Amino acid sequence: MIRKTAEIDIILLSLNQSIDAHYKWLVKMFRCVVSADITQPEISNADSHCLCEFGKWLNNHPARDGDETGYLYQINAAHAKMHASGRVLLLAIVEKRWLPEHFEHFQNALLAFTAAVTDYKIYLLNIRSNMDILTGLPGRRVLDESFDRQLIDASPFNLYLFLLDIDRFKSVNDTYGHLVGDVVLRTLAANLAAWARHDETAYRYGGEEFIIIIRAQTDDMACQAGMRICHLIAENSIQYPGGEINITVTGGVTRAQPGEPLDVVLGRSDQAMYEGKQTGRNRCMFMDEQHKITRITRREPVHQTFTKQVVG
Ligand code: GH3
Ligand code: MG
Ligand code: MG
Repeated sequence: MIRKTAEIDIILLSLNQSIDAHYKWLVKMFRCVVSADITQPEISNADSHCLCEFGKWLNNHPARDGDETGYLYQINAAHAKMHASGRVLLLAIVEKRWLPEHFEHFQNALLAFTAAVTDYKIYLLNIRSNMDILTGLPGRRVLDESFDRQLIDASPFNLYLFLLDIDRFKSVNDTYGHLVGDVVLRTLAANLAAWARHDETAYRYGGEEFIIIIRAQTDDMACQAGMRICHLIAENSIQYPGGEINITVTGGVTRAQPGEPLDVVLGRSDQAMYEGKQTGRNRCMFMDEQHKITRITRREPVHQTFTKQVVG
């Protein structure tokens, strides 16, 4: 799942604050050295890397995907090493047995730590710069760059691409003006992000086209997930300063085959969506691997009723 722009900003801010806290930790180290104090837990304890402010931040910062796990793993390892070599240096100085290597190890560990943090910041800034400016959703490039990985990671589930396009959006612009059109796009984007389930990600793919990547066990489950979104869109009018606007979308769902490139999968969703536009709009279509297109119908939630069995 991809982080939102505001979320990335908060991470970058807290990351910077935690780094500042580590400068203070370094100064505290100097103090410990001159006063021969080896009692400070965040410096002298074996688990000092978990007790310092940065360690606490790291422990409360779960990764969202495989890439992020890699960066955080590197940071964690470098951070633990920095604490360990700092502790070794402190003890060596206090016990008057220090060698030039103690300083070298500590310096290398400090540099490795800042390098690992910088790599993670670049990773976050890269995601951030590929967010769509109008809606704050991840943009086309994020999907382009992550799709192959998402397809591999989806296993044992299937990965589905759900393309949705606002119906007659040009007439929204023509009737209410472009600024209101922008409000519609922003509100829809926020709704999609809110309505998508925790493992589904919404992207703004182009002008008034959005994509939701769905993980599901069966075609039917993915179709129902797409249909659910289409209905929510139709049922929730969009507020703007002068009133409210009702919109509908036409959607196309298809399953990505193992190893299939994004443009091929997208081509199928697009054909399904196009068929939906041609046959009346405000509907959701599914294209299977034989390129057969069917209209998805909404299945009402099944309410189980229990009837008493009369025996005898
Ligand atoms: P259809 O049901 O066939 O999809 O009709 P449509 O009117 O939605 O399709 P069309 O492709 O003719 O028009 C899309 C419109 O979306 C035209 C374009 O001006 C508008 N649009 C694209 N990006 C933006 C944007 O960022 N802001 C606004 N306000 N409008 C946009
Ligand atoms: Mg369009
Ligand atoms: Mg449209």
